[in-house]
Amino acid sequence: MPALCVSIHDVAPATWKDCQCVIAAVQSVAPIPLTLLVVPRWHDLPDSQATDFYAQLNCLRNSGNELVLHGYTHLDAGPPPRNLLENFKRRVLTRSEGEFATLCAVAARQRIRAGLQWFAHQGWDTKGFVAPAWMMSEATLAELTQTGLSYASSYGALIGLPHLQKLHAPALVYTARYALGDALVRTAISQLAALQTRKKAALIRLGLHPADARNPATLAHMQRLIASLLPGRLAMTKSTFVQSWQAASVKIQ
Ligand SMILES: [Zn+2]
Repeated sequence: MPALCVSIHDVAPATWKDCQCVIAAVQSVAPIPLTLLVVPRWHDLPDSQATDFYAQLNCLRNSGNELVLHGYTHLDAGPPPRNLLENFKRRVLTRSEGEFATLCAVAARQRIRAGLQWFAHQGWDTKGFVAPAWMMSEATLAELTQTGLSYASSYGALIGLPHLQKLHAPALVYTARYALGDALVRTAISQLAALQTRKKAALIRLGLHPADARNPATLAHMQRLIASLLPGRLAMTKSTFVQSWQAASVKIQ
C-alpha cells in the first residue's frame, strides 16, 4: 500500500505552541504517526529549560512518532551569496534559514555532530536528517554518508543513506514563504497531491510548519487533504517508510 508521511517542521521550544496546534489539527482527522523535525538550538537561542517541551516530545516519541534532526540552529551562517540567484534563494525564498546551504565539510560535520550529541543527551536517537529549507551543500550530503543515519531528504526527494539512492517524492508544503498567495498554494497542493495519487506514487510527503497554525484556511485544507488521502495510503513515519523502501531495493538488486 502506498504511504503518506506527515512531517512537522521546526520543532523547538520557541515554536512549540504553534507546533502543538498543527499536531492537534492533524490528529483530529486521524491519530496517525508523525515525523517531528527537531532543531536543537533554534535560531541560536540559549538552551531552553522548557521541561514541558522535552516531556511532551518524549511522550510523542513513546507513542509511535519519530523525532528527526533538523539542522542545529536553522540559521544560514555561511559566506555571503555569490550572485543574485543565490541571494534570492538564501535571503528571500528561505529567509536566511538554509543553515547547511553552503557549508564546507568541516563545518557541516561539526553541526551534524553537535546535533546528534544533543539528541543523544536527550536520550533520543534519530534515523534521519532534514536540512533546514532542504538546502544542503554537496559537502553536507557527503558528510551524512558517514553518520550511520539511514536517510536525508531534499525538497524533491527522499535520499537513502549511505548510498544516496533517491526516491522522487516532492514535498507538499503550505509555507507562507512562497511569493504565491495562500489560496494559490492550496490549489497547487491539491493538484500535486491528485497527480501523485494518479501516478500511484509510493510516497506522498506532507510538510507542515508552525506558521500554518495561524492560518485557519490552511489547517482546514490540510485536514481535508489528509482525510482524502488516508483511504488509499498507509500513514507512517519517514523512518518506517525508509526501512521498507531500502529492504525492497535490496531485494530488487
Ligand atoms: Zn525548517
